[in-house]
Amino acid sequence: MRIDLHTHSTASDGTLLPGEVVRAAAAAGLDVVALTDHDTSSGWSEAVLAAEEVGLELVRGMEISTRHRGHGVHLLAYLLDATHPGLTAELDLILAGRDDRIPGTIAALRAAGLDVELGDIDAPVPGRPHVADALVARGHVADRDEAFARWLSPGRPGYVDRYAAGLTTMIGLVAAAGGVTVIAHPWGRGRRGTLTADVLAELAGAGLSGIEVDHQDHTDPDVREELRGIAADLGLIATGSSDFHGAGKQNHELGCHTTDPDSYAALLDRAATAAAASGRETPAVVGRP
Ligand code: AMP
Ligand code: ZN
Ligand code: FE
Ligand code: FE
Repeated sequence: MRIDLHTHSTASDGTLLPGEVVRAAAAAGLDVVALTDHDTSSGWSEAVLAAEEVGLELVRGMEISTRHRGHGVHLLAYLLDATHPGLTAELDLILAGRDDRIPGTIAALRAAGLDVELGDIDAPVPGRPHVADALVARGHVADRDEAFARWLSPGRPGYVDRYAAGLTTMIGLVAAAGGVTVIAHPWGRGRRGTLTADVLAELAGAGLSGIEVDHQDHTDPDVREELRGIAADLGLIATGSSDFHGAGKQNHELGCHTTDPDSYAALLDRAATAAAASGRETPAVVGRP
């Protein structure tokens, strides 16, 4: 069984439609895929239709923008009731923050001398990758990576902060919505200092179910083994995934990292417990025998 629990579509900053992500997952030989667009469930219905068509197991999820002690943390949430009022209120704030940031970002880039316009950005859930694509289209940079390195990462001229939910608050909201949470790439891109073993222990106490261990942002195999050890010590489930973004991210091909079947089963167990405790109607795994 090949299981990939983290992918993006055009519902956020991937480049394939939700149905295309599912079809590409089947073509890549995966048995299970999770669609986890940033801060939205809007791709779910199209993905469900495609999964039923191709006979792939689909986990409905999202990757939620949170913050912990001033640092951005991406929180994967699975099998949650996306209509839970407390959850949707928080997601609406995040989505509004995404929209509100774009004019400031464009203004900052223009002030830095780049010819780029607000009209270049046309995305339902805008993020810096869309701004990066505009900079590529106008010939300012070669690709998204260069756009982040030169213009869009924190500390660069085009970086503008935005609203994110509190990490512990969001872990609680997802539980209230009957879902389970896994921290995405916890030690990727310099986040190691934020999510120490002690912090992860606190989060496990707050209801976190797992951490994503096998991920391209954890380039050093020793980092993965250390995280795997922490997960084992804390009773957290260790997952692995591609964080596929279509053509939007190099070296993140579907199935480049996967979650082992026992970990997946453990996650589904936790989800069933969370769903029962919440009293919410949660989405089933599509196509699960
Ligand atoms: P945003 O939603 O605006 O916070 O942007 C986050 C998205 O940008 C995520 O999909 C990241 O994978 C992507 N991203 C973050 N840093 C980089 C980078 N240095 N190069 C390419 N993509 C990045
Ligand atoms: Zn993304
Ligand atoms: Fe992420
Ligand atoms: Fe992601």
